[in-house]
Amino acid sequence: MSTKEKLISHVMKEEPIGCTNKVTVVGVGMVGMASAISILLKDLCDELAMVDVMEDKLKGEVMDLQHGALFLKTHKIVGDKDYSVTANSKVVVVTAGARQQEGESRLNLVQRNVNIFKFIIPNIVKYSPNCILMVVSNPVDILTYVAWKLSGFPRHRVIGSGTNLDSARFRHIMGEKLHLHPSSCHGWIVGEHGDSSVPVWSGVNVAGVCLQTLNPQMGAEGDSENWKEVHKLVVDGAYEVIKLKGYTSWAIGMSVADLSIQCPHCRAYLLTSPSRGVVQGMHGVKDEVFLSVPCVLGNSGMTDVIHMTLKAEEEKQLVKSAETLWGVQKELVL
Ligand code: NAD
Repeated sequence: MSTKEKLISHVMKEEPIGCTNKVTVVGVGMVGMASAISILLKDLCDELAMVDVMEDKLKGEVMDLQHGALFLKTHKIVGDKDYSVTANSKVVVVTAGARQQEGESRLNLVQRNVNIFKFIIPNIVKYSPNCILMVVSNPVDILTYVAWKLSGFPRHRVIGSGTNLDSARFRHIMGEKLHLHPSSCHGWIVGEHGDSSVPVWSGVNVAGVCLQTLNPQMGAEGDSENWKEVHKLVVDGAYEVIKLKGYTSWAIGMSVADLSIQCPHCRAYLLTSPSRGVVQGMHGVKDEVFLSVPCVLGNSGMTDVIHMTLKAEEEKQLVKSAETLWGVQKELVL
């Protein structure tokens, strides 16, 4: 008799029922690992699977996380380069791909990452045909469109992290300016996650007090308080962090966990949303692009889109953001 047999009497003949809330993270680079640890520390899944093409790095990251199992509630952490390890995931977060070099724009990465997606997405679909696909790799809006096309999934099950991070950056900087915690500072960045993102100044508020009623110049040129700078700092934020530490990771990881938590709990959130029949036709957007507007996320994906009351200038900027994305997207060969 083994020590185990002497210690434990098995009473149940049936196989234990499988996990119910499995999350996969594809790509164990800086963003993938920041997402994984954020998801684990928020107890968002009962199984975490990870995939990467770099086998040693993947094995090392999985072992490192498993060594912390004592401090976690997630029962199982697994990793493999074979996608069978991802089978029956509820949410699959895609962070794999090339990242920006210093000074490089997100849109510049596109063709390299499209080619990577042509391999990854069919494999995810094969093993988790009912999952919610969450794209994080850049340029995130275009790659969310690419993932939608390659997956054949309905639009509501393909989402991107979009400007969830940009809004978090905005609320942090706004908080610094007002000496308030970001959770008390409300404001939305919509459109492209990137250089053409749009700050909705008309909606910026604290405790329901619209700041543009206090400062009608807010966000405009000639504002003596230079609030426009807050958006510039949001856009420049990623470039600045990349210049300083080589990549961005922690905030996007937390943002991914924040979006993942919405799925089972169905709350309104801002995310990249599919455009055709949703954003296309809204706010004057004519192109079939994915970009961020406030949406409701539920356990089957994105269920609703919020109608923002944008000012004419804000709508104009959103249309321009869509056109910027379309300009790159229309050249893609999928
Ligand atoms: P990284 O280089 O640290 O990691 C990328 C990982 O992807 C590597 O481990 C690599 O082996 C893996 N990979 C490459 N091809 C693969 C494939 N075919 N299958 C599985 N794995 C594969 O990069 P990072 O810093 O983690 O960034 C990842 C992506 O996330 C980049 O595109 C980056 O621009 C993007 N990003 C997005 C946001 C956002 O807000 N959406 C924020 C930061 C970074």
